Amino acid sequence: GGMLTRGEFVGSLDCGTTSVRFIIFDRYANVVAQHQLEFPQYYPEPGWHDHDPLEILSHAHRCIDETTSLLEAAGWTSDSVRVIGITNQRETTVAWSKGTGEPLCRAIVWDDARTKNTVKHFEHKLETVGIRDSPDYDSTAQRQREGSNGGVWRKGVEALRCITGLPLSTYFSAIKLRWMIDHIPSVTHAHDTDDLQFGTVESWLLYNLTGRAVSVCEVSNASRTLLMNIRTLQWDPALLEFFGLRESILPKIVSTSEVYGCIASGSLKGVPVGGLVGDQQGALVGNRCLRKGEAKCTYGTGAFLLFNTGEEIVESSHGLLSTVAYQAGPNAKPVYALEGSTSVAGSAITWLRDRMKFIKSAKEVNALAASVPSTGGVYFVTAFSGLLAPYWDPGAAGMLIGLSQYTTPAHICRATLEANAFSTRAIIESMKRDSGVQLRHLKVDGGMTNGDLAMSILADLGGFSVVRPEMREATALGSAIMAGAAIRLFGWDLERPETLSEVNTAGSREFMPTMMDGEREEKWTKWQRAVERCKGWDE
Ligand code: ADP
Repeated sequence: GGMLTRGEFVGSLDCGTTSVRFIIFDRYANVVAQHQLEFPQYYPEPGWHDHDPLEILSHAHRCIDETTSLLEAAGWTSDSVRVIGITNQRETTVAWSKGTGEPLCRAIVWDDARTKNTVKHFEHKLETVGIRDSPDYDSTAQRQREGSNGGVWRKGVEALRCITGLPLSTYFSAIKLRWMIDHIPSVTHAHDTDDLQFGTVESWLLYNLTGRAVSVCEVSNASRTLLMNIRTLQWDPALLEFFGLRESILPKIVSTSEVYGCIASGSLKGVPVGGLVGDQQGALVGNRCLRKGEAKCTYGTGAFLLFNTGEEIVESSHGLLSTVAYQAGPNAKPVYALEGSTSVAGSAITWLRDRMKFIKSAKEVNALAASVPSTGGVYFVTAFSGLLAPYWDPGAAGMLIGLSQYTTPAHICRATLEANAFSTRAIIESMKRDSGVQLRHLKVDGGMTNGDLAMSILADLGGFSVVRPEMREATALGSAIMAGAAIRLFGWDLERPETLSEVNTAGSREFMPTMMDGEREEKWTKWQRAVERCKGWDE
């Protein structure tokens, strides 16, 4: 081998729902080296979805080592990687022992719906007992609505939303954690004996990558737990009391961009970790939606639309949630976002491939759907585990309607792409009502955006232009930017977006709507009727 050169790069460990990848970027966001591995998914019962925390970790280690070998093969020393960021699937809940550092059970994945009864229990508790008013509680609008001046107990789901920005749903970590404590004896015991450590996926990864030295939870991830006060950015005692959880199980909340510790072993030993961010917030940053009013939607397993609302928390009255987008350092002001997510997007394509066997690879869905001019009247509500935003109905059932003797797999494939577009439109309609802003361009990324037909259908049924950047690794890039900014690598500074101007300036493709307004509205009405029919099926 020849001499290796020392460069200046930033690494990103992207731990998604189905795969882990490690990507090394240069200052222009060119990919210097990368490696990706899928890891096992466990579906022990209908609606359940588990990951093995140790498998997530072993795949992360392997990706880092493989990518570092590729970097060296390309002529660079491994210490060219100056800092790394981690971005992760959010809400997925990990429980481990403080004593041994070992997982106490499998992780419950964000789209898991086993906790329906836990949600019902807390809904009832909110209606009857309510939630103790937090001293930090500061929603003037809510106080005026209720005519209260700091009353002690607040009732209803709005009380929870005021503190956390979130509705009550199977989606969020506190509900999954409560289920674990109630149903898994090892977790119950650890909670009783103060041995339980709760973490989201970035907490688990950082803890292990630093040699089990650092226990933290990053603020954009913490904002998805139902345990953090969205104003103070601290765990809220009122929420812990409400969910019956001990404070000792929680790690410390930290910002999105700062040095948390260094990698303890492997090919990148000694490299600092300077960024942690939830995958969707990472994609917001990677798409450089750093200013108020900018929005992106990522179409991976699920679809996630985030709309930057700046320093303002917009409280949704139309089924969206308020979340922390990022906090650019320990002393920086947080930037907030309004978010609408659906749990099924690309996973419906995977279902067409693996369960229905209509296609052999995900990308074939586009060609098969393009072989017919329309769905032939078929509508497909892909509510495989209930419906999230903006409907929030855990009892909604997946439904194909409008089938006839004439229906072929091609029609169903096309209806699947349409379902994705309708779900996005439903979220954008809510955003318009909450924020008063009419979205004209939507930046998109994620595996499903590789299909041109999927994007044309989205523009047609949505009635807005869809902008697909050349650079499709926005999530990973976002965490790389966070990590680089933490040490001011390349002069990056999140609070001055102009310092990122040379990052990711490659071209993009824009898909314009071509459907007539009348047809679009007719199909939209039909979709809404289909959704109404599938609601509340599993009561
Ligand atoms: P995640 O990060 O959630 O694991 P990805 O962004 O890797 O997801 O996207 C993977 C999803 O995209 C899969 O569910 C797959 O079915 C879908 N997908 C991949 N390629 C295409 C394509 N060319 N057209 C449509 N869907 C696709």
